[in-house]
Amino acid sequence: MSAITVRVPAKVNLQLAVGPLREDGYHDLVNVFHAVSLFDEVTAAEPADGDVTAAPLRVRVEGDHTGEVPVSDDNLAVRAAMALAGRAGRTYRADLLIRKSIPVAGGMAGGSADAAAALVACNELWGLGLPVEDLMEIAADIGSDVPFALLGGTAVGTGRGERLAPLETAGVFHWVFALADGGLSTPRVYGECDRLREEAGVAAPRPAVSETLLDALRRGDAKALGQALANDLQPAALALRPSLADTLAAGRERGALGALVSGSGPTCAFLAESAEHAHELAGLITDVDGCRAVVTAHGPVPGATVAGAGAG
Ligand code: ATP
Repeated sequence: MSAITVRVPAKVNLQLAVGPLREDGYHDLVNVFHAVSLFDEVTAAEPADGDVTAAPLRVRVEGDHTGEVPVSDDNLAVRAAMALAGRAGRTYRADLLIRKSIPVAGGMAGGSADAAAALVACNELWGLGLPVEDLMEIAADIGSDVPFALLGGTAVGTGRGERLAPLETAGVFHWVFALADGGLSTPRVYGECDRLREEAGVAAPRPAVSETLLDALRRGDAKALGQALANDLQPAALALRPSLADTLAAGRERGALGALVSGSGPTCAFLAESAEHAHELAGLITDVDGCRAVVTAHGPVPGATVAGAGAG
């Protein structure tokens, strides 16, 4: 097969509990990930020109607001493909094309999603046949959010977020996402979270998963889930981008069952009662200041999945 296309979802964190800073620079987390139907697509193709002196891995990125995405070895999809080739122990070549719909630096783990998609696409293109357990190991080395993008669904991550256990859920949850102009740097938001805690003299509590949230997921109870949504990074994201408080308030006032900043932001997530309610809510928040676009999505959805194979 000379080209493989993989579709990969964005995530929203239903609960993000941030513990104390560890000696290795990471925080201990409890991270309830939920994959939603907002997708990037990564195509891995055999290079057409056969130029063996060219870089073995090249990448192009298409989509809106992709100026911040590197088209070098710093691209997480390239890093993932290089790690996979390294594991297989020889040089493999591929041209990667990333079609982005997941907002860049939006707190929805788009870069991690592309890395997961590149692992699945190149594993297939190069005929390596590595089992998903091996891909999960490589994924965890690339970044804490990459294993979840392979797995999808709803799962709880512990450690720095990379030790995953799938969660039982019922039904479908409907979401509205308010995309903001510009991104927020994840390390900066964690730094601000530490700074705010130090300033207030509060020690970070040991993170623990919310039983109320797990119960709401198991029962498919959107109302209860809306009330249980929690993100310890939210105060830091709001401190760095005060206008997000207005966006969240607008969603709540206009009928969202719950509202929170997605991960490190600045995307805001709103839970709706149904698909119709999500569309209605989306229409009501499009004109909120600082909101670049509004999209609806549902979850949970599967992780990185082969969507097509062809002649490139
Ligand atoms: P997270 O929620 O995992 O903290 P995020 O959604 O806030 O991440 P990303 O879109 O994953 O942010 O990207 C953060 C940064 O990573 C970007 O600003 C960009 O410089 C870099 N990056 C590297 N590869 C990619 C990629 N394939 N797509 C997007 N960003 C990438």
